[in-house]
Amino acid sequence: MKIKPFLLCLLFIAFLAGCESGSPGGGTGPEIDADKTYRWKMVTTWPANFPVFQEAPEMFAENVRIMSNGRLDIKVFAGGELVPALQVFDAVSQGAVEMGHGAAYYWAGKVPAAQFFSTVPFGMGKKGMEAWIYHGGGLELWNELYEPFGAIALPMGNTGVQMGGWFNKKIDSIDDLKGLRMRIPGLGGKVLDRAGGNPILMSGGELYTALERGTIDATEWVGPLHDLRLGLNRAAAYYYYPGWHEPGTELELLINKDRWESLPADLQMIVKQAAAATSEWSYSAMEYHNSQALEALSAKKNVQVLPFPREVMEELRDITAETLAVEAEKDHDFKRVYDAYRAFRENYQQWRRLSSQALENY
Ligand code: CA
Repeated sequence: MKIKPFLLCLLFIAFLAGCESGSPGGGTGPEIDADKTYRWKMVTTWPANFPVFQEAPEMFAENVRIMSNGRLDIKVFAGGELVPALQVFDAVSQGAVEMGHGAAYYWAGKVPAAQFFSTVPFGMGKKGMEAWIYHGGGLELWNELYEPFGAIALPMGNTGVQMGGWFNKKIDSIDDLKGLRMRIPGLGGKVLDRAGGNPILMSGGELYTALERGTIDATEWVGPLHDLRLGLNRAAAYYYYPGWHEPGTELELLINKDRWESLPADLQMIVKQAAAATSEWSYSAMEYHNSQALEALSAKKNVQVLPFPREVMEELRDITAETLAVEAEKDHDFKRVYDAYRAFRENYQQWRRLSSQALENY
């Protein structure tokens, strides 16, 4: 039998990830029965055919099916196909489906501290996030938060650094944000609000029309790949970077805890390793496709790609610190996770400064 190079790559990543501790569950399931087939459902928060983000869970399910010789057969449903996109957490928690794929900040209304496991404005990017999650106690904290909901989480993807968004006017100073109607969700939205702007919640499908008609003055979405697909370059002229509000959004695989514990140990391990492999695939896909799409965008005459002025970035950074302190006052778990996140980050920054950051200056 010929083993495909991709499967070899998966097995290697599986070996690497298998060396780590800290993953939830493992070894608690029933005895292995080679004839028993588990038919599961996974719902996602992404639209059908959404590049990379929806491809990732579909590839994950296919890899699990191949590696388990069909014993774990996961059918994937895009947002709205089985349950509305933002009900993924509830569907997994209540056991209506076994799995979900999304990002933890979508459940901020239910679990405010979950936002630390997606992204934090001016926070850690992919490398720091995953060092914290896999090795620094992050995964344990994440799963403690979901314990009362009967769900467990594993990292499964990262967007990389997002773009700052599309604006219909230039941003020269922090005052230009005052009164600005911008689609920007989560903690980033709270920071904009504190800076005098007007954050607006809106789904991806509505963005182009809202920006083009002037219902909003600005919007962030993801990065060049996804922004170009929505045609945002035809709705606003100024494309700002970097995405201070989303420095590397971690995506999550949700699993119903009871159903997870019903899986034998070999299938649990296949799920964990396939999730780790999918993480790497999706992050590298984002880096590749964003760089290709940026080139296409930069060639368009009506688009100006601009950096936020340094003074604006520094003000937003300071307002972010105030915003996080205010949120920590409101919620005990938010404070607890923020303290752990901050302690890890301070330590990690020292290493980052004299490793990757030092080299980036050249
Ligand atoms: Ca975004």
